[in-house]
Amino acid sequence: MSIAYNKIAVRVRLGALRRNFEILRRMAPAAMPVIKSDAYGHGLLPVARTLEAAGADAFAAGTVGECAQLRDGGIPGRIVALLGATDAADAECCVARSIVPAVYSADQLELLAGRAAPGQQVDIALKFDTGMARLGFTEADLPALLDRLHARPMLRPVLVMSHLAVSDDPSRSDFTRQQGEAFGRILAGVRAEWPAVHGSLANSAALLAHPELHFDVQRPGIALYGANPLRGTAQEHLGDGLQPAMDVAAPILQVHPLPAGRSISYGRTFTAPRDMTVAIVATGYADAYSRGLSGKGAMTVHGRRVPILGRVCMQMTAVDVTDVPGVTAGDDAYLLGGPGEALTPDELADLWGTISYEVLCLLGMNPRTHRE
Ligand SMILES: *Cc1c(COP(=O)(O)O)cnc(C)c1O
Repeated sequence: MSIAYNKIAVRVRLGALRRNFEILRRMAPAAMPVIKSDAYGHGLLPVARTLEAAGADAFAAGTVGECAQLRDGGIPGRIVALLGATDAADAECCVARSIVPAVYSADQLELLAGRAAPGQQVDIALKFDTGMARLGFTEADLPALLDRLHARPMLRPVLVMSHLAVSDDPSRSDFTRQQGEAFGRILAGVRAEWPAVHGSLANSAALLAHPELHFDVQRPGIALYGANPLRGTAQEHLGDGLQPAMDVAAPILQVHPLPAGRSISYGRTFTAPRDMTVAIVATGYADAYSRGLSGKGAMTVHGRRVPILGRVCMQMTAVDVTDVPGVTAGDDAYLLGGPGEALTPDELADLWGTISYEVLCLLGMNPRTHRE
């Protein structure tokens, strides 16, 4: 997926993804990479192929369509659709391509059972709500669910999943522990009938901080992409060594003086307190670079941090290069990563007022290339 009208260059370092995966696998050998939403903006197939070559034998993506792209792109092994089969076409696609849909309603059981050919087994992942209150059966639904499954022997549960709400916050580990206990009870209930079923609860933060909640399969997302879900907490060190894999650059269109007393950009929100030099960078909110960065964000130019001056426009943003010698039109400005004082996804997210996940998903929509 790519924004077709700009000069932005998103560069993904596949080697960094592989090293992050290796770090996580040392802690959790059964880690199943989460590559939903175009691999958090890093590119679905290139990321899957890289991690598959590094030993991943199962993946979790979002929609069934995304899973079909993986299968049609030659990815073998288990592919789980976290959003599940939402209509008949999805259900058919899962059956035809051996995609394992998350199932969180009785209607979905019906939809899938109806698509199985005689004698065919359809693998499914049962999704339970243990505290997110997002998708899933509840613990109280379990007896009725087991009855329904028994009545549909063509459906075979291979995975039992739930998702944690505050695993990235060690100060609220009570809630995480409660979710883990509920999940353990649910898993035991399913396992009493399907002994080979695998349990999966841990996201990145729980993979790093809660080895007792690893169960059979872990589902790391953000840590693969080099952001630390425990940043700013007492357990931040558990994410040491993870490296961001995405650099985002845009060309500088013009460099010019901004004399003391002159304002810059819409709304005149910044006035130069002294004689300054500004660079106009070819990026703005149309490139999913948030206007919320107006007057408070930063980029790097020639390896140095440079603050954003005034408002971010649709396709242009001004930065202060007064203290960076030799900047000229055509030079790269880095919105994220790059050489020198690189902004990490976490730092950019703080300036942006959001989380690294959103920064990566949004900037990753720009034209993208991959290298080792
Ligand atoms: C996105 C997602 C994950 C991965 O979470 P991270 O915090 O990125 O590790 C795991 N499980 C489910 C169900 C998800 O939606």
